[in-house]
Amino acid sequence: MTDTVVIAVANQKGGVGKTTTAVNLGSELAAKGNRTLIIDLDPQGNASTGVGCPVKGRAATSYDLLSGQHRLAETVVETVIERLFLVPSTPDLSSGDIDFASKPDRIRLLKTVLADNEDFDYILIDCPPALGLLTINALVAATSVLVPLQAEFYALEGLSQLLMTVREVRQGANPDLRLDGVILTMYDGRNNLSQQVEADARATLGELVYSTIIPRNVRISEAPSHGLPVTIYDPASSGSRAYKALTQEFLSRQMEMQV
Ligand code: ADP
Ligand code: MG
Repeated sequence: MTDTVVIAVANQKGGVGKTTTAVNLGSELAAKGNRTLIIDLDPQGNASTGVGCPVKGRAATSYDLLSGQHRLAETVVETVIERLFLVPSTPDLSSGDIDFASKPDRIRLLKTVLADNEDFDYILIDCPPALGLLTINALVAATSVLVPLQAEFYALEGLSQLLMTVREVRQGANPDLRLDGVILTMYDGRNNLSQQVEADARATLGELVYSTIIPRNVRISEAPSHGLPVTIYDPASSGSRAYKALTQEFLSRQMEMQV
């Protein structure tokens, strides 16, 4: 899997836009001709729903993949979006932290099973809202981390803990892990707080912060109930345009990393 770019979409806070980013970046990468896989690593299964995989369609899941019960190819399902594939999750993944804790290779479970992959250009891992074993597995398996940051009060609190975890993984199990960037989400330009969070993030993190900002847009929040990314649900919406711009910026950052 030497050429596969594996991205962990991580932030231990819930409701900051991880799943929305994984689903919409994933579908845009697919739309641009890339074979793309989203691995739903959150027991809540929002990414699975978001790409149109109903609960009853989740036969083999990311839990089965991590437990070694199924190989990657056996857990991958198609989505309604061409070239976009999914490893779904179900609530049984919530016991993963405990069930896998005694395994000696517990932080490398995902990395090991992804070595099986040959034909994806991008793999996006939608992490749960915690810095537990599942997120650590994602960071160990990833080439890069993307961090959605909700443009709200307290956004930057907790970020240092995440960055410290990234540093620890880099010093140990995955020295090549890169922090690809921080993405401001749910931005409300009329709100002083959003502007303040942006200013703070750019002052503290500099180039790490994507210049593309994801606005708060109701079409983004409606799209999952239709099992579609916003880029397909309402292509003309501000949310759709933002995620398309984000994908462009993501790709140009990937190019810069290679040189
Ligand atoms: P996380 O995966 O970090 O928990 P989600 O991506 O599920 O966060 O987003 C949390 C909620 O906010 C969801 O209901 C989602 O539809 C909504 N949401 C995410 N991004 C936006 C946005 N830019 N504008 C409006 N609603 C959004
Ligand atoms: Mg989520």
